[in-house]
Amino acid sequence: MTTAQQYNVNEKGYYGEFGGAFIPEMLYPNVEELKNNYLSIINDPAFKAEFDALLKDYVGRPTPLFLAERLSEKYNTTIYLKREDLCHTGAHKVNNTIGQALLAKRLGKRRIVAETGAGQHGVATATVCALMGLECIVYMGEIDIERQAPNVARMKMLGAEVRAAKSGSKTLKDATNDAMRHWINNPVDTHYIIGSVVGPHPYPDMVARFQSVISEEIKWQLQEKTGKTNPDYVIACVGGGSNAAGAFYHFLDDAQTQLVAAEAGGHGISSGFSAATTFLGKPGVLHGSRSILMQTEDGQVVEPHSISAGLDYPGIGPMHAHLFDTKRAKFFAITDEVALKAGFQLSKLEGIIPALESAHALAALEELGAKSNETVVINLSGRGDKDLATYMKHL
Ligand SMILES: *Cc1c(COP(=O)(O)O)cnc(C)c1O
Repeated sequence: MTTAQQYNVNEKGYYGEFGGAFIPEMLYPNVEELKNNYLSIINDPAFKAEFDALLKDYVGRPTPLFLAERLSEKYNTTIYLKREDLCHTGAHKVNNTIGQALLAKRLGKRRIVAETGAGQHGVATATVCALMGLECIVYMGEIDIERQAPNVARMKMLGAEVRAAKSGSKTLKDATNDAMRHWINNPVDTHYIIGSVVGPHPYPDMVARFQSVISEEIKWQLQEKTGKTNPDYVIACVGGGSNAAGAFYHFLDDAQTQLVAAEAGGHGISSGFSAATTFLGKPGVLHGSRSILMQTEDGQVVEPHSISAGLDYPGIGPMHAHLFDTKRAKFFAITDEVALKAGFQLSKLEGIIPALESAHALAALEELGAKSNETVVINLSGRGDKDLATYMKHL
């Protein structure tokens, strides 16, 4: 017997066997408050109007769907780029931080706490807090603060307080712990903004809904340009998976569109320096939800590696674990080297310098085998200005 697969979250917060909320008891009240209110707030017409207006006038949406003619010629197929790189602040992340900040205000919160690794999510959070007059505290590992000085400066200029996480390896994991602790100690007036489709339910679903504007736009834009709403392929890179969730969202139930996820292969899947979660990982609990993660035999999280900070994560969100498990999405592992090459290629062919994360999605074209009569949409999650130093090292 066949039953229709469900790719969206169910009432219990699960995507198939993945998802849920695995959190310390101290966090129950905060997460419950969010879970009980997020849908009614997001679906309220007044909320929607305010969110849409900011996406339009502040972020610059709709972002263009661009026919990349020279790239199409190179791969002998038809390729459109969804230009999230043109969003205010240079990537898709701001779609989510605007949504969550508006939601936090509806819940009566006046302070925002967030964690950041490379600083991209911290900057997107500091940006919307400035816009909305919310207090902003960003936790960041002490080592990351040294490595990512320009983003620390941006956050400070935007009025955020950057607090150093000084325990453990002094990186993202430790910043996450500190942010959690802050939220536990300030449950009434603080909202915690998670930057991807990870974390306990309802975060993955909430973030996916805020990012789903990407595929909503792709559908009508493609209709306008080609007369059909569905491409043959949608490709996106996956760190935690928020830009991919947004690009896939309105195609999840359209079997004629193949979903393609590009993970960071690092130095190669079996090199010991990789972030290719679906190739190397096993089911387990990470950051509050059950998903697939890279772990040792006894369940210790394995340190990931990617040339791109945004993909340098040992897991993927539960929605993507389910898309992998059900084979609804096809996963590729793209090495640092191949991603760099794709980044240089797009720059020279189309005059667009992509973020290194997005370059992984572009590189999937090499293995995709799209035919000449097919249409491919690639989600260009961000711009490459932040990655220029890395690109130059490999020129
Ligand atoms: C953060 C980031 C990513 C990875 O995050 P997802 O949640 O997987 O989308 C990808 N691209 C860019 C440009 C980013 O800044």
